[in-house]
Amino acid sequence: MQSLLKFITCGSVDDGKSTLIGHMLYDAKLIFADQEKALELDSKVGSNDGGIDYSLLLDGLMAEREQGITIDVAYRYFTSDRRSFIVADTPGHEEYTRNMAVGASFADLAVILVDASKGVLVQTRRHSRICALMGIRHVVYAINKMDLVDYDEGTFDDISVEIEKMATEYNFETKYLIPVSATVGDNITKISPRMPWYHGKTLLAYLEEIDVSDKMAQDGFVLPVQRVSRPNREYRGFQGQIAAGEIRTGDEITVLPSGNTSRVKSIYNMMEKTDSAFAGQAVSVELEDEIDVSRGCVLVKGVKPNVGKMFTARILWMDDVKLVEGKNYYLKIGTLTVPAIIMNIKHKIDVNTGAKIKTERLFKNEIAVCDIACSDPVVYDKFSVQKDLGCFILIDRVTNMTSACGVVEHALRREGNLTWHEMDITRELRAKQKGQTPKTIWMTGLSGAGKSTLINELEKRLFAQGKHTMILDGDNVRMGLNKNLGFKEVDRIENIRRVSEVAKLMNDAGLIVLTSFISPFRQDRRSAREVIGNDNFIEVYVSTSLEECEKRDVKGLYKKARSGEIPNFSGISSPYEPPKQPEITIDTAGQTVEESVDYLLKELEKLGC
Ligand code: ADP
Repeated sequence: MQSLLKFITCGSVDDGKSTLIGHMLYDAKLIFADQEKALELDSKVGSNDGGIDYSLLLDGLMAEREQGITIDVAYRYFTSDRRSFIVADTPGHEEYTRNMAVGASFADLAVILVDASKGVLVQTRRHSRICALMGIRHVVYAINKMDLVDYDEGTFDDISVEIEKMATEYNFETKYLIPVSATVGDNITKISPRMPWYHGKTLLAYLEEIDVSDKMAQDGFVLPVQRVSRPNREYRGFQGQIAAGEIRTGDEITVLPSGNTSRVKSIYNMMEKTDSAFAGQAVSVELEDEIDVSRGCVLVKGVKPNVGKMFTARILWMDDVKLVEGKNYYLKIGTLTVPAIIMNIKHKIDVNTGAKIKTERLFKNEIAVCDIACSDPVVYDKFSVQKDLGCFILIDRVTNMTSACGVVEHALRREGNLTWHEMDITRELRAKQKGQTPKTIWMTGLSGAGKSTLINELEKRLFAQGKHTMILDGDNVRMGLNKNLGFKEVDRIENIRRVSEVAKLMNDAGLIVLTSFISPFRQDRRSAREVIGNDNFIEVYVSTSLEECEKRDVKGLYKKARSGEIPNFSGISSPYEPPKQPEITIDTAGQTVEESVDYLLKELEKLGC
């Protein structure tokens, strides 16, 4: 069987990536006849002086959309006498880094273009680093445009020395340098007579011969479950693509994260029943026991990936919006998507020197090592051990864009050393003793909307009913628990996180918690809801209008904000994002406090509080 080589080309806009691949396809007659004709016709109006513009071959980019990832990666399939190839060509425009990372995640090898007339540039280092980050172990440096430097051996040697120096830190398994000219065709498919000093292989010959099989590959079986299929009452199959190893009917497998075990009852591959299946195949696996398996679970045999919530990872930031510590994202690893936060950025990495730089923020195209905490246990492994369970993407929860891609470096030791202790007196018992259902009533709204007034009155009424309550007020909390926090984005996020954790503890203690925070951003409130638990969280939107709040101006803050004395004031110089589906909405304008509280109590009662 002909082996398949999946590779990616990396280069900047004018480095000649498309021309290089186009030339290879054309020379080696790897394109279809009608495509060849179309190309010649097209080139009549093309840019290459009436000659063939090979870059046209890779045009007509295919846009791929998957869970918020919009990429422009052209995949080209071709076959030579000796091998089949899939090449991902990524456009060299602004979104390049993101696209390259997506392309690289599928590839076994990278062809990195270097312009001979310019030498090793920042991009060359960046491309090499991203390839290394995405787990590419084999690289070819194509030193292109040799025609522009008169096929000079000295120029090639100088660039080779620089590349050798640069690449030592990436630990690529193989690295090969070829002097080429993509436009003229030197050393692409035929050895060039213009560079007699080069004794190596042509690009095509090298790509045909290189062995990219993973010598580190583990024996164990790994199947991240993509879908649970239930066509009828009798059959329940777990579908997905086998990430590693082999499985046979009768094998004992473990389901992660639960750790439950069962035996394989049947295996289907492409609708056909089979006794065994191996890595790369899409299968449906049926188990003998009725155990709980859902999308995101992983079936394993003979390997023990980590199950946990915290790990250290290396990420490439791809979002226009900077990364902020503490912000909540979706993390997609294997087939599982969970909310996660970047707890802290340990350091970012200078793409040029590899130096570690201390920082709290990360900007587009920067690479950093950081600690990540997920809301639920995920199944993961070191990227170097299991590629599919070791790489992930972070998705912005508001824009749904891919903000980063990353690879797991190791589990966070501190997590392994912590154990959750189940106590004998539970939350339920404490609540029962108090004869109430603990909830967190989260008031949000503009300054002056009436939050503090309402929670104060509400607490008095609940207290009078014999309820056990506690108030967490924005200003009060900032005078104690959160006095070390300012008003920057990181601090705002941390403020809400701490308050949420405290509210949760108080709910655990059996108390009804009332909070009053402007909490202007949906994402922060969503994080609070996740920490406290959806069932315990009652979002009350105090929807009093800006005009009314400004008219009241209880604390004189609007006046100060309007005169510019207070920057970033919610509703004036900073946005307030109203809740989309609050449990309760109340506009206090034109109502007495008593009327408002009556209404709230009625609504709270409906919600079981
Ligand atoms: P916030 O805590 O939302 O910043 P405050 O409770 O401090 O707002 O201020 C709200 C102001 O509006 C108070 O002066 C309060 O007396 C007044 N107000 C008028 N009507 C109502 C009402 N129905 N509910 C709550 N507050 C009201």
